Amino acid sequence: MGKLEKQTEHRARARSDVASLVRYHSPQVDIDVRLNTNEAAEPPPAAFMSDLQRALDRVDLNRYPDREARELRVGLGERYGLSPDWVFCANGSNEVLQTLLLAYGGEGRCAAVFEPTYAMHSQIVRITGTRLVGTARRSDFSLDQALLAGVVEAEKPDVLFLCSPNNPTGQVDSDDLIQVALELLAPHGGLLIVDEAYGQFTTTSAANLLREDRSLVVSRTFSKTWAMAGLRLGYLLGPPWCLSELEKVVLPYHLDSIKQEAGLLALAYGSHMEARVEAVVAERQRLTQALRELPVTVWPSQANFVLFRPESMSGTQVWRGLLGRSVLVRDFSTAEGLDDCLRVTIGTQSEDDRFLVAMREVLL
Ligand SMILES: *Cc1c(COP(=O)(O)O)cnc(C)c1O
Repeated sequence: MGKLEKQTEHRARARSDVASLVRYHSPQVDIDVRLNTNEAAEPPPAAFMSDLQRALDRVDLNRYPDREARELRVGLGERYGLSPDWVFCANGSNEVLQTLLLAYGGEGRCAAVFEPTYAMHSQIVRITGTRLVGTARRSDFSLDQALLAGVVEAEKPDVLFLCSPNNPTGQVDSDDLIQVALELLAPHGGLLIVDEAYGQFTTTSAANLLREDRSLVVSRTFSKTWAMAGLRLGYLLGPPWCLSELEKVVLPYHLDSIKQEAGLLALAYGSHMEARVEAVVAERQRLTQALRELPVTVWPSQANFVLFRPESMSGTQVWRGLLGRSVLVRDFSTAEGLDDCLRVTIGTQSEDDRFLVAMREVLL
């Protein structure tokens, strides 16, 4: 014991705010039906995979990648009618958000989030040494002008996060609400980040509100709708004056050549991706309807997942019951503001059927 103490005494210590952090956690277990991380249920199309294999032959791995990721940014920009200097790419939208906070957060600055929301927002705020201003949403998980105004006027945040559709509640923020947030932030010079990781599953997008004179940026990802969570590719749409600050803090050559090729090739499969999104939306409707016939509260979702709360059992009991039937969903039952809530990702029809059968067995 004495010896052990002596050993740890000499260990280097992490920054105290880092040492007290808890790492991001979502169990990765080997199970039949994985409906816990909002990935696409099926891999990208076979034709894409063979395109990618051919593209690999052209990659000069001995050379650094294109630091500007020029072709990929041109391709993405075209999808949104934007020039490439309105597009920034990174290793997943998590890295996009981290880069934003490195440039716009940090010591002496603060960032506002509305809970419950995506856990990585507050995590990234903390790891970048930014002060976190967390505010509870309304009891139905909505946001409104009064709630936004209260936070912006009291804290004058340097960064404000919105997430639309919101993870894990599935709700969308209207264009009107986003305009209100921009107007509230403008006098203090705050940046509005709208995380649209699930943007393709709904009909509105803050990308339509982008303008040179607005402090608005919109992040999106290839992880969910493009079925490439394993590739780690995300991007940001926003005015060039903002994106050029990001280029200063992100590491050089952070986006590898293979990823740049894969992202560019994927864009040729846009209509395929859109057809799949439509199928997920239809399946979401079916699953929501089926859940409504069980003793659970269901929140209507605009994303590829549904949040629900069992009425007659605890969330943890139901989560365990599902796990025992080889169905994994996300357990939020001990998360603040989400007592007893679980979140299920929309899977294939057969995966969703297995989930529903297991739910009936556990609840009825
Ligand atoms: C999944 C998710 C992300 C992370 O996406 P990556 O591109 O895989 O890093 C970002 N935001 C929200 C709200 C998410 O749910």
